[in-house]
Amino acid sequence: MLVHICCSVDSHFFLQKLKEKYPNEKLIGFFYDPNIHPYSEYRLRLLDVQRSCEKLGIPLIEGEYDYENWLRAVRGLENEPEKGERCRVCFDRRLEVAAKKTKELGEQRYTTTLLVSPLKSQEQLQQSAKTIDKELGTQFVFEDFRKFGGTQLQAKVSKEEKLYRQDYCGCLFGLMQQRAKQEMIMDEMIAPITHQILPASIEERLTMYQKRMELEEKGIEYTIIRKRFLNYRLLRGFVRINKEVVPSYILSYSHLRRDFAKARIEEIIDGVGYANRDEIRVVSLDFLRKFVEVESMSQLYFEGISFEMEMKIRQEIDGAYSLSPIVVLDKIPDRFELYIDAVSYKDVKEELIIKDKNA
Ligand code: SF4
Repeated sequence: MLVHICCSVDSHFFLQKLKEKYPNEKLIGFFYDPNIHPYSEYRLRLLDVQRSCEKLGIPLIEGEYDYENWLRAVRGLENEPEKGERCRVCFDRRLEVAAKKTKELGEQRYTTTLLVSPLKSQEQLQQSAKTIDKELGTQFVFEDFRKFGGTQLQAKVSKEEKLYRQDYCGCLFGLMQQRAKQEMIMDEMIAPITHQILPASIEERLTMYQKRMELEEKGIEYTIIRKRFLNYRLLRGFVRINKEVVPSYILSYSHLRRDFAKARIEEIIDGVGYANRDEIRVVSLDFLRKFVEVESMSQLYFEGISFEMEMKIRQEIDGAYSLSPIVVLDKIPDRFELYIDAVSYKDVKEELIIKDKNA
């Protein structure tokens, strides 16, 4: 039986239950989820499914990440609510590809781990499968492992197995609606061109979950804890000198009183230029070279520096808890204009702790 897999939280429990119910059936996992956006989130969910399938001894096939086709299929349904028409099309597409894969493998029976998710409509899934089976001659296996306390047991299993528990269904449109309702910034969609790994970003989680797998391979004990903190995202920023935008680098946690300030440097102390407005500090590339090797502003702009290093530099210039705008320019100018559109917000992130510090 081919098992279409959406994520590890659903698949681990669902596959365990399937193994119990069909002990003689050969199960094949099929990860086909081009609805997941962005791609880093897709990779993170796939990574966790690979780990889960390995633990359960189930072979896994990765489907194509044909995101453009998925987008084409849901065109015009972007504003539909969850469990609405867009989700029906999304199920149709994923189940149809799963059914075709089943036939390609010379099998007839298939199912999906979406059935166990409390947020999905089992009726919608069954309806989609019925139409597909009529057309392709496949056989969808319906199982309801949610009942008799299944959902509670699934939550327990996912915690015990330290599975990656995502907090949105998968697509861009569902996420937009969810974050709007929560009045939260959609920070999943923000990734700097420098590829800097931002706190609580998908990229940070991906790195952490990869490390987790390395630790498990080496048999090193670890735990994953959650931490509340003040997060930050720079949405847009630039510096103008004599009406020309010049190359600049704005350090994280920089905030202006409003978005825009015209300022002049009043004094320079130990290489730090202090401006007359909004507690702005300006440092030169030379100053930055005390901390990192960097040749030019353009290298800094495209390659960036690590978030941790930015924090170290901020601490050195402005001390702890600082939210002053700190800008790196080629040289400290006399006058300049600064634009910063940024947000700071309460957030929660996961952190990996190695239990045996000597490991
Ligand atoms: S909300 Fe989920 S099921 Fe609905 S379209 Fe988006 S990814 Fe698919």
